[in-house]
Amino acid sequence: MSLPATMKAMVFEGVGKPLQLKELPVPVPLANQVLIKVIACGVCRTDLHIIDGELDKPKLPLIPGHEIVGIIVKTGEGVTGMNEGQLIGLPWLGYTCGKCKYCTSGRENLCDNALFTGYTLDGGYAEYTLAYAQYCFPLDAMYGNANGAPLLCAGLIGYRSYSMIDAGAVNIGIYGFGTAAHILIQVALHQGKKIFAFTRDGDVVAQKFALSLGAAWAGDSSSSPPEKLDAAIIFAPVGNLVTKALQDVDKGGAVICGGIHMSDIPSFKYDILWGERMIRSVANLTRKDGVEFLKLAPQIPVKTDTQTFKLSGANEALESLRRGKIQGAAALVMG
Ligand SMILES: [Zn+2]
Ligand SMILES: [Zn+2]
Repeated sequence: MSLPATMKAMVFEGVGKPLQLKELPVPVPLANQVLIKVIACGVCRTDLHIIDGELDKPKLPLIPGHEIVGIIVKTGEGVTGMNEGQLIGLPWLGYTCGKCKYCTSGRENLCDNALFTGYTLDGGYAEYTLAYAQYCFPLDAMYGNANGAPLLCAGLIGYRSYSMIDAGAVNIGIYGFGTAAHILIQVALHQGKKIFAFTRDGDVVAQKFALSLGAAWAGDSSSSPPEKLDAAIIFAPVGNLVTKALQDVDKGGAVICGGIHMSDIPSFKYDILWGERMIRSVANLTRKDGVEFLKLAPQIPVKTDTQTFKLSGANEALESLRRGKIQGAAALVMG
């Protein structure tokens, strides 16, 4: 396959600066890597956390983006099981060491030496990107476009968060009804769960959106659900929601924090944790999560509501996400 010498990319050069559109050399895959021609790349809240300096020590300069749908156009030395022309998805988890105590105990999401796509490795806000072949997932053909992109982070992290809940839980609260929630609700309803959607106070549009997707109830985060919850998942980066969710869940219920960054959690009375309630965070993903979720998604089938932007419109997409103007998901599509 003949490849161009250069590509367009949106580049992050430091906190407080908008991404810059640049013409860069198309990278060359090293051993165990593949070169991907990007079809679409999701725009995730984590990208905002990086750009705003809430996640420190990114690679600099950096091409952000970790919800990549693309085609393998070149394979490096030693790549097996992945072929040129293959449709793949590339998530946040871009590399793990395979040797640390986490990697060797099925917890590669916690690897001390992990590298992350669009954070410590260049990502998908570009026409081409590199990936370690073993971290790419084969994708169902129905997701070979912008609609597949949000599955690669919002979908996966939502699924991992959901997997942390006791299988017997029925009433599930979702706090922050954005990209992850609009995917997860489809999986949860498919499995017979009842969803209670909490949004920013007064965000009637998001509440209607949740109801249109089958939520049993939708309301302000400050209001009480009509029934006790068996579990809660928090996607909004708001620490106050942890104590609020603890008050909404029944005895034995878990409050799962699905975000990578959150504002401080206020102190609270032991009473609201008492009764074997639990709080836990979800960090990154394992490849097992990815394989499971991407097998399940086309069976349901999960559909995403994805607003698209051009690559050069990345700053605009990020700003829309920041202001809560994205219903469902946002993705950049390459020309
Ligand atoms: Zn490791
Ligand atoms: Zn993400």
